[in-house]
Amino acid sequence: MTETNETVSNFVRNIIEEDIASSKFGGRVHTRFPPEPNGYLHIGHSKAILLNDGLAEDYGGKFNLRFDDTNPTKEEQAYIDAIIEDVRWLGADWEDRLFYASDYFEQLYEWAVQLIKEGKAYVDDLSAEEIREYRGTLTEPGRNSPYRDRPVAENLDLFERMRDGEFPDGSRVLRAKIDMSSSNINLRDPVMYRILHEEHPRTGDRWCIYPMYDWAHGQSDSIEGITHSLCTLEFEDHRPLYDWFVEQLGIYHPQQIEFARLKLSYTLMSKRVLRKLVEDGIVDGWDDPRMPTLAAYRRRGYTPRAIRQFSEMIGVSKANSMVDVAMLEHAIRDDLNEHAPRAFAVLDPLKVVIDNYPEDKVEWFELPNHPGDESMGTRALPFTRELYIEREDFMEDPLRNYYRLSPGQEVRLYGAYYITCDEVVKDEDGNLVELHCRLDPESRGGSTPDGRRVKGTLHWVSAAHAHEAEVRLYDTLFVVEDPGASDDLREILNPESLVVLNGAMLEPGLAEAEVGNPYQFMRQGYFVVDSKDSTPERLVFNRTVSLRDTWAKVRNKQ
Ligand code: ATP
Ligand code: MG
Repeated sequence: MTETNETVSNFVRNIIEEDIASSKFGGRVHTRFPPEPNGYLHIGHSKAILLNDGLAEDYGGKFNLRFDDTNPTKEEQAYIDAIIEDVRWLGADWEDRLFYASDYFEQLYEWAVQLIKEGKAYVDDLSAEEIREYRGTLTEPGRNSPYRDRPVAENLDLFERMRDGEFPDGSRVLRAKIDMSSSNINLRDPVMYRILHEEHPRTGDRWCIYPMYDWAHGQSDSIEGITHSLCTLEFEDHRPLYDWFVEQLGIYHPQQIEFARLKLSYTLMSKRVLRKLVEDGIVDGWDDPRMPTLAAYRRRGYTPRAIRQFSEMIGVSKANSMVDVAMLEHAIRDDLNEHAPRAFAVLDPLKVVIDNYPEDKVEWFELPNHPGDESMGTRALPFTRELYIEREDFMEDPLRNYYRLSPGQEVRLYGAYYITCDEVVKDEDGNLVELHCRLDPESRGGSTPDGRRVKGTLHWVSAAHAHEAEVRLYDTLFVVEDPGASDDLREILNPESLVVLNGAMLEPGLAEAEVGNPYQFMRQGYFVVDSKDSTPERLVFNRTVSLRDTWAKVRNKQ
């Protein structure tokens, strides 16, 4: 694993260092993260957030959070609030620089008027469909709109009346007058404004024309004095347009740099798809722990520290590639292994009665909270005649090399006693009901004077003290590595993406577990209290990640 805190080099850093050396922006570094508030942030966004925030921090610069809120049909205040919470949770710091593209609507309008006056923008009466037809294709040039050569005065008048609300949605647009035969389709007279009689979460009904993203984005960067405007590769072809706008307006010119999007195996990230999963009820909201959103990850028990570590592991490049989701889980596991205290939880309980142990006796065994970190202290666990062990830790007819409990085979109950199984009790249908065992009093604390070895060590919980809980186990939402390549999401859904276990038995201290504090349930994985559904009466735990680390195996083979 790469070392934390050591600055990992990447091509963006190289560009920034050259710019600092040549004093391109007076040595300044000013980045931003520009989300559109039309959904929740996902793990792909965290790559962009941590990259931008990290660069600002490393080069003594500034980082802005700016909402690209130019499309009121899809945007909501609830998304704005959720995004702010998530960016803060990740630990990126915009200080007092929280901005909105909608703060610039008036300025953008004035700049549009400036371009109209200079003959560089015009009002077009073609319909959206006609505009598409006239645009041409990658191999064919476009055609000029019949309205392209309207006199400036007419354009100014119509644009003002568009703003005043005289025209219905879709009846007119404002377009930049660039070049309908450009080999770059983005330069074929792109639309700058459309009419939308829609309530905006921030500007209310003040506007009924809204700037297109391409018209708002570069100018917003310019207004904020952004030096390095980082975005994903699909905007590479838009860069000439952004450059054209700031050059025509004669305003400050940020440098756009494109990098590859994060793509994760078994995961879909497009907000459009995530919204569909929510709306179709395939998941239980944006923060369903199976979603790749930051809100879902938080609820599932992922930590910002681990997401940062993952972000450093994957680095930043110009080439699109798919990252193995096992690598993200590896980072989570690594972090929790270090920070999560251990606890006993029996997820699928089987009752064990210790026949040679008195009925009312309770012994307390002091166990370490973390095997490698004494500073995490110890806890006392009660031991009694009736216990629970994991159902899968017993086999009546053991396979070869099965070292857990079976008739006549001795095992260690972690930190307590050695036990041997004498009798298997079943109901009339042949189902296992309980085991009767006997302990060796000499083995108290988990070892014997004769140094006798046992191969199996099991976790256990005192039945009288156990706290019952619901435990939710998660797996990937999709069964194929590249779900983006599939036409029908329903066909590739993983039927076992959520398995609910009722009646798990927890060591008593876990009754006080709090949201946000992870535990390692020994031999089972990492778990956290569910922030939404857990109540003091009915605890609900989410499995953050299992113990099995497939990524470490892949890496060790390399
Ligand atoms: P999506 O396609 O998932 O809906 P988006 O790009 O439309 O995402 P925005 O809110 O516009 O979402 O994204 C804000 C910023 O996050 C943009 O600068 C975008 O480039 C970046 N970003 C989005 N998805 C990823 C990703 N998978 N990897 C890296 N950066 C991303
Ligand atoms: Mg977008």
